Amino acid sequence: MTVHALPDTLHSDTLAVHVGIDRSQYGENSEALYLTSGFVQPDAETARRRFAMEEEGYTYTRVGNPTVTGMEQRLAALEGTETAVATASGMSAILLLSMGLLRCGDHVVCSQSVFGSTLRLFAGELSKFGIETTFVSQTEVAQWRSAMRPNTKLLFAETPSNPLTDICDIAALADVAHAGGALLAVDNCFCTPALQRPVALGADFVIHSGTKYLDGQGRVVAGAICCSHQFANDAFLPVLRTVGMVLSPFNAWVVTKGLETLSLRMRAQSDSAMTLATWLQARPEVARVYYPGLPSHPQHRLAMHQQSGLGGAVVSFDIAASDAVQARLRAFHVIDSTQVCRITTNLGDTKTTIAHPATTSHGRLTDEQRQAAGIGQGLIRIAVGLEHCADLQSDLLRGLQTLQTRSMSPTTSTL
Ligand SMILES: *Cc1c(COP(=O)(O)O)cnc(C)c1O
Repeated sequence: MTVHALPDTLHSDTLAVHVGIDRSQYGENSEALYLTSGFVQPDAETARRRFAMEEEGYTYTRVGNPTVTGMEQRLAALEGTETAVATASGMSAILLLSMGLLRCGDHVVCSQSVFGSTLRLFAGELSKFGIETTFVSQTEVAQWRSAMRPNTKLLFAETPSNPLTDICDIAALADVAHAGGALLAVDNCFCTPALQRPVALGADFVIHSGTKYLDGQGRVVAGAICCSHQFANDAFLPVLRTVGMVLSPFNAWVVTKGLETLSLRMRAQSDSAMTLATWLQARPEVARVYYPGLPSHPQHRLAMHQQSGLGGAVVSFDIAASDAVQARLRAFHVIDSTQVCRITTNLGDTKTTIAHPATTSHGRLTDEQRQAAGIGQGLIRIAVGLEHCADLQSDLLRGLQTLQTRSMSPTTSTL
């Protein structure tokens, strides 16, 4: 095995294609895929030392695998952390974070606008084990500060939020956490290190769903925690190796190759999203557009500072309507009129996806919870892919321009 030395000062675009390569004796130029559960030991004494963790060397893929290590090194290089710990999914990264840092009696402060399964993990699953979570506003730092208790160990944020793209002030939350003796984790799924590096802003941990932009082509489910060697070795790896929510080497390999084009994709998809958001904002059928790249976004300046001047690839908008029944009919009409956008709640793909959050990702909320979250029946979310932007515009225009002429009297009132 040869790990070729790289110069110390490389740009992240270069790191994205060169870090994490441990070449075999064959000298392959692309990353090898070590699809194996076990590793042959040269002799019994070496096996003893490796199993006792006295010597480095692979033994069993639940404990470590070179393809997975390669992905971890590449992702860590992009996030600017010492290391990363890969997990089977984004959700298992958040579970590992919690298992590694928290115990019964501890308290967590979490944004109320995080991913739905993250909400259920903190509010439901972890509460069974005596870990209490207070949910606070995504944007009001004062609420985070006043939720702090002596037993608060973790603050958890995700920015921009899904689907309304509200922005957390990462540096301000890091100050709140550290002043209270707690740690800050940021789910960086929407921006990725191509746009936003939470650790540079003071966060202690970065969470990823590799399922989204890191793979970027909608192929695998994957996750990771980016962190220091100390937290990886003392808090996360011992738990991961015991409970086994490890990333498959095949999925790690797919994500590794995805990281090579991450920054190109994020920039191209953000540019298209900005064009679409600007165009949507000027359409008479659209009541409001939610996109951090637009100067009209409430946290536009913070977003531009935190996200390398780009808004990301998710755009949401409210269809103008007189009431909730008409709003849903109109939103469904626009969604069903598309021929290029695909109806799915997944995001981070090269293929543009379109979704109606009120009846899908946020469908299980009560009307009151949905209203509090600002998710109306006219809201449409688009996760912009790599298609030509003009084709996406025409695709949305097909539904939008037939809204006025089409008679859409409410047929049902089952909202
Ligand atoms: C999808 C997603 C997750 C969960 O990731 P999985 O890979 O589906 O487990 C967590 N956070 C955010 C922001 C997500 O979009």
